[in-house]
Amino acid sequence: MAAIHADDVERMEFQLALRRHGISDQSVLRAMDEVPREHFVLPEHRDSAYADQALPIDCGQTISQPYVVAYMTEQLAVEPEHRVLEIGTGSGYQAAVLSHLAREVVSVERYRTLADGARQRLKTLGYSNVMIVAGDGLAGAPERGPFDRIMVTAAIEDVPQMLVDQLGEGGKMVIPVGPRNGVQRIVKLTKTSGGSDRQDLIAVRFVPLLPGQAREL
Ligand code: SAH
Repeated sequence: MAAIHADDVERMEFQLALRRHGISDQSVLRAMDEVPREHFVLPEHRDSAYADQALPIDCGQTISQPYVVAYMTEQLAVEPEHRVLEIGTGSGYQAAVLSHLAREVVSVERYRTLADGARQRLKTLGYSNVMIVAGDGLAGAPERGPFDRIMVTAAIEDVPQMLVDQLGEGGKMVIPVGPRNGVQRIVKLTKTSGGSDRQDLIAVRFVPLLPGQAREL
């Protein structure tokens, strides 16, 4: 019998923790299993890559906690033919998870350093259906829309109408909504013919969605 490697134990515990927290969609659990999170964290945090916590990345930003990544992905209900827009590329981890479930992922990041880093990382890892754009995600990516699904991974006080406009009918968006230093909640919007349905979900803590492309790198 082959020896069980310590890394395998860590990956098994990672899956178990997600299930224990209530993640049950098999395609989401599989995508979480397939993305090598250790490549998306800073070298000094490699040992904590599979711990259920957010970690710092460059430009004062964070890679989200695995449970929150899985939860938002599950709520988004991505199907294989979908085109997905993500706002807030950060490390590119969430984009990689989405790319396992969707036909195409477009992800927008306001820091050029992070956008370039994520693009390079995803290319090295062989992700070919993710496009990273450096720019202001508050404007979305109108020239590439409409999208079937939109995920925002930075918090904002109100759902931006510009992004709702880029959803196709029946499209869904998940977005953390709330004050910068207060309680934020994941909001799920489903676009209908007459407007949109809104559901308020779990409380979370995200870095703020800031207007404009970053002036610094
Ligand atoms: N999804 C990321 C983590 C997101 S952290 C991951 O998997 O690693 C939030 C990110 O949103 C940060 O990188 C921040 O720079 C970015 N961001 C904040 N405001 C933005 C905006 N207006 N447009 C695009 N990106 C933005």
